[in-house]
Amino acid sequence: MVLNKICSLKENRTPLELADLPDPVPREREILVRVSACGVCHTELDEIEGRTPPPVFPVVLGHQAVGRVEKTGSKASKFEIGDRVGIAWIYSSCGKCKFCIEGNENLCESFKASGRDANGGYAQYATILEDFAFRIPDVFSDSEAAPLLCAGAIGYRSLRLTGINDGQNLGLTGFGASAHLVIKMARYKYPNAKVFVFARSEKERDFAKELGAVWAGKAEEEPPEKLDCVIDTTPAWKPVVEALKNLKSGGRLVINAIRKEEGDKEYLLKLDYPVHLWLEKEIKSVANVAKRDVSEFLELAAQIPIKPEVQEFKLEEANRALVELKERKIRGAKVLRIEGD
Ligand SMILES: [Zn+2]
Ligand SMILES: [Zn+2]
Repeated sequence: MVLNKICSLKENRTPLELADLPDPVPREREILVRVSACGVCHTELDEIEGRTPPPVFPVVLGHQAVGRVEKTGSKASKFEIGDRVGIAWIYSSCGKCKFCIEGNENLCESFKASGRDANGGYAQYATILEDFAFRIPDVFSDSEAAPLLCAGAIGYRSLRLTGINDGQNLGLTGFGASAHLVIKMARYKYPNAKVFVFARSEKERDFAKELGAVWAGKAEEEPPEKLDCVIDTTPAWKPVVEALKNLKSGGRLVINAIRKEEGDKEYLLKLDYPVHLWLEKEIKSVANVAKRDVSEFLELAAQIPIKPEVQEFKLEEANRALVELKERKIRGAKVLRIEGD
C-alpha cells in the first residue's frame, strides 16, 4: 500500500493505493524481511496529512513490522533465513557521531525513520540493515508483537529517562495507551515505587488504580506526596505546569509527546519560578527511539508479560484502519495482516 502524496484524510478517505512494486533487494548489510504483520500508528496519520511529511513519494508507510528473514545481504551475518524479526521506527543512523557511539542514535542528525524516510511495513516485503532489526521473543504472536515496536519502546525510553530508582514516586499525566504500558513496566521493574496518575476522566482514573496506581486524580489536583519524576503523555500544557509543581527538589519531568497543541498555551503564564522551577527541577523531552529501547523493551514485555489486545485488518484494508484510528474507533491496537504471494 503506497502513499503518493500528502492529503487530508477528511477529504480523502483512501489515501493509500494498492500497488505492485518490485521486490526490494537487500544490500550488503541488509536483510530482506517477508512481512506478516504491521501495526497502524497515529504517526501514519501525521505522515499522510503532512505534519511529519515523507521526503520522497511514493512511499510505503509502517514502522511496527514483524516478519521472517527471507534473504540476507552478502555481508549480513546476524540472522538466519527464517528468523523472526521486527522493524521499528528507527530505520538507520550514521553510526559514527557522538550520539550513535553513546547509544542515542535517536538524536543522530542522520536519523532515518521506517515508513517515512524509507519504505516500511505496509507491504509483503521490506529491507532493513541487520543492526536495526530486532529479534521477537517467542511468547508473542506476530500480531501481538507488532504494536509493541512503537509505543512500548518509546514508553520504555521515557521511563529510562526519568532516572527513577525503586522506591521512588513516579507520576503519569495522561493515561492513554502509552501510559498503560509504562505503568505495567514501572510496577514490574520497580515494585516498591509508588505510581500517581493524573487523568481527566473518571474511567481512566479507575483503570489506573486497577493497574496498580496508589493514587489517581485530575491534572490540577495535588497528590498526597511529592514526586521524584513525572512522565507527561498529553498534548496539553496545563499538565506540564501542574507536574512541575508536584516535583520534589531535583525532580525531573519527562515529556513524551511529539508536539504540544496551542489550545491551552496561556497556562504557561502561570509558571512561577519558585513554585515550578526553583530547586533544580528538570524538564526533558523524549524523541524517537534508540536501538536499545526497542530490544530491551521487547525482553521486558516478554517477562512481564505485556500482550496488547489487537484488531486485525487485511493489508488492502489499511485505509479503513487509518480512518478508524483518526475517528478514534479504537478497540485494541490495529494491525495489518499480510499474506504471502
Ligand atoms: Zn508509531
Ligand atoms: Zn549518528
